[in-house]
Amino acid sequence: MSPDAFREQAVRAVEAVADYMRRVETLPARPPTKPGDVLKHIPKSASESPGDAHEWTRIFDDLERIVIPNMTHWQSPNFFGYFPCNSTGPAIIGELLSAGFGQQGMLWATSPAASELERALLDQMGRAMGLPESFLSASESGGGCIQSTASDATLAAMVAGRRRVSDQGTDFHKTTVYASSQTHSSFIKAALITGLASTVSDTSRVRTIETDNQLRMDPAMLEAAIREDIARGLTPAMVCATLGTTGTTAIDPLEYITRVLRDTGATEKGCWLHVDAAHAGALLVCPEHRAMITGIEHADSLCFNPHKWLLVNFDCDLFWTRDRKALVSSMSVTPEYLRNAATDSGEVFDYRDWGVPLGRRFRALKLWFVLRHYGLEGLRAHVRMGLAQAELFESLVRADDRFVVLTPRTMNLVCIALRAGDDATRQLMDTLNQRGPSYLTHTTIPTSGGDRYAIRVAIGATTTRDEHVRALFEQMAAVATALGAGG
Ligand code: PLP
Repeated sequence: MSPDAFREQAVRAVEAVADYMRRVETLPARPPTKPGDVLKHIPKSASESPGDAHEWTRIFDDLERIVIPNMTHWQSPNFFGYFPCNSTGPAIIGELLSAGFGQQGMLWATSPAASELERALLDQMGRAMGLPESFLSASESGGGCIQSTASDATLAAMVAGRRRVSDQGTDFHKTTVYASSQTHSSFIKAALITGLASTVSDTSRVRTIETDNQLRMDPAMLEAAIREDIARGLTPAMVCATLGTTGTTAIDPLEYITRVLRDTGATEKGCWLHVDAAHAGALLVCPEHRAMITGIEHADSLCFNPHKWLLVNFDCDLFWTRDRKALVSSMSVTPEYLRNAATDSGEVFDYRDWGVPLGRRFRALKLWFVLRHYGLEGLRAHVRMGLAQAELFESLVRADDRFVVLTPRTMNLVCIALRAGDDATRQLMDTLNQRGPSYLTHTTIPTSGGDRYAIRVAIGATTTRDEHVRALFEQMAAVATALGAGG
């Protein structure tokens, strides 16, 4: 494809995106697609011959015919499922340029611009979020990088922790890891990948810590588990504290957890404390929401996903560590063909050593454009708007006594149910999702009376406004009436 031919079709693509942005509100957030609906349109084998002069017209037609009608519209203002997955113009432009420049930023030497922009932006964001200087790259052993996902960050932290305690003399095979029962499934996945667990239910080296009545890790239970393990000759290698659990956005008591690690001697043995703030980290751009990171100066790493609620589209997980030396030494493998003078000088960051992939895209561009376009003020305004909308939604729910809010709202997620019970709540959600235009997802919440089925209303899509939140509640109330769900 020549540069001129590229320009012609790329302009069409940009127009298609702008057009999609304009009309996404009119599309049902969840498509009525059945399994196989897309498959049946796609030929079994790729075409042998190159496309003719009309191929691009057919491609854009196929997007309208096959792709768009079968997409879940995460960018709809009526998308309230999972967590938001923001996309914005500045970030999309960054994606386009990243692909266009085709950088491969595995080493500083393979793309100095990608490496140094990423490093500088992680410092900017660290400062914007109130992280201590020890997490920034000018410090003796701190700094940050962009991982693809929070799952990658958890895996990197687990590998680094296991290596660090081993370097301090612990038998690699006698290490244990800890997280609350509400932590994200990526924690156990990391244990599977590192070999700390052989199956999801293998608890020989993976400890699931109970939570309190607000579903936060109970630090007394953590302390008991750590002391018991140390007494049995095991060594805690990694603890994952979650700020904003996936189910209910519960916030683990970080400061208390750091104290447990010090008091039990786990810190001294090298135990790595990772803070998973995948969703909630966005709040940290607002100074009034930083209480949850009290004690962060004692943690070893923290990650959060601007690709959730902070206007940078997927994928973009920011991962900082206070101990890059331990992190890098746990994953660095240098074959001869990657050796170069810049690496040998020790002056540069080679980000291939900070995670699983060798090759790395130029993701810093989209973060940079978002930061420059919106400024920190714009990011704060977006977060505060999501919080205000969640507060609005919660107040509407509380004013209708057929509904109940099941967990304290800590941020932009409201977990609700019908008082009529689980079956009615499930029916309510299924009906809303079938009718559209909104999309909702659920969780189960452990209570003293057993698990409760809860609808999670996660607010914070880029385009959601108060009117969408009000409309959602009106639809809910109408369906509750139709279901005969009394108070
Ligand atoms: N951690 C938490 C607390 C999450 O809520 C999620 C996803 O929602 C993840 C980790 C996994 O995120 P990712 O898709 O970036 O791996």
